[in-house]
Amino acid sequence: MRPFIFSTASDAVGASQAAASDAGTKFLAGGTNLVDLMKEDVERPTKVMSVVGLPYTNIEETAGGVTIGAMAYNSDTANHPLIRQRFPLLTQAILAGASAQIRNMATNGGNLNQRTRCSYFYDTAMPCNKREQGSGCGALEGINRMHAIFGWSNSCVAVHPSDMCIALAALDARVKVLGTTGERSIPFLEYHRLPGTHPEKDNTLMPGELITAIDIPTNNFAAHCSYLKLRDRSSYAFALVSVAAALEINNASIKSVRIAMGGVAHKSWRATTAENFLVGKAPTEANFKQAATREMAAAKPLLHNAFKVKLGSNAIYRALSSALSENS
Ligand SMILES: Cc1cc2nc3c(=O)[nH]c(=O)nc-3n(C[C@H](O)[C@H](O)[C@H](O)COP(=O)(O)OP(=O)(O)OC[C@H]3O[C@@H](n4cnc5c(N)ncnc54)[C@H](O)[C@@H]3O)c2cc1C
Ligand code: SF4
Repeated sequence: MRPFIFSTASDAVGASQAAASDAGTKFLAGGTNLVDLMKEDVERPTKVMSVVGLPYTNIEETAGGVTIGAMAYNSDTANHPLIRQRFPLLTQAILAGASAQIRNMATNGGNLNQRTRCSYFYDTAMPCNKREQGSGCGALEGINRMHAIFGWSNSCVAVHPSDMCIALAALDARVKVLGTTGERSIPFLEYHRLPGTHPEKDNTLMPGELITAIDIPTNNFAAHCSYLKLRDRSSYAFALVSVAAALEINNASIKSVRIAMGGVAHKSWRATTAENFLVGKAPTEANFKQAATREMAAAKPLLHNAFKVKLGSNAIYRALSSALSENS
């Protein structure tokens, strides 16, 4: 690990200003990702500023739904009664990630900003445009079994590793951030980026912006939702494919539906083709299967991950079926 200057933020505005004025500054929350990356020499901050003590830990009801603090721990978020009762999809997704010990340290803001698990990104001897812009992409023609099938570019084929983010994408959450020009609220699907020609940028944060909270609007999905994570091992592994599915059923037809996928793109992937097909239809096995097939028809697999197309289709079908039977 390289030497760096450590400090503790005493207020969010000061932290944001300090980070905006020095690009070598990194915020530190639980440290479960950043410290690993520093040890691997992938991240090389000259200044590390702890933000975990800032007072953004509340999980509480708002006029439009529930807000969860960026510095609240993943475990506390997943197990909070408001989240368990009103957004069980989020509870399921968080609990499918990492291990209990890591979830106890990992914060919500850190979860959103964790970096890809692409092995070429971690290996500083290999080319990687995300780590070093313009150096090339080792995975494009390399071993790309874990990589994207939607939205990738010739610059980067990595996937975002978070489970929590897949549920937040399905729930139409918003990310509240504070920067040098004040506060703003970003729709979740606009928060992370597709790689394009700038894969080094994971998200749409401006320099120095700090995540303070995640807002989740009220919905009617609590009775019928399911998070399905398919992976090489049953614990302690990132998703090959995951699906967050939520249904609102009215008079035996689908009034509203949300489907988001993980492990398939540089950001949480909303399955809008499947969603549009299902609205107004009966929640039948045949319709679920057809929706899944339609969604996956647009996939563009790489050399080693064509299996994700069939896996994704089956996962959408299974997640919808479990969502339907959940609590009914
Ligand atoms: C062995 C292992 C297995 C894992 N498995 C999974 C898994 O299956 N699923 C999954 O989803 N995750 C998994 N994780 C990842 C884990 O969830 C993340 O490491 C964690 O959520 C990061 O949170 P943190 O608070 O520790 O962030 P940190 O490591 O402190 O920070 C991560 C990044 O976020 C930035 N950051 C932190 N807080 C803020 C903020 N408020 N505003 C702006 N930027 C901020 C930091 O600057 C840094 O760039 C795993 C991690 C490990 C080590
Ligand atoms: S897929 Fe992205 S993260 Fe992986 S080597 Fe290529 S550029 Fe780097």
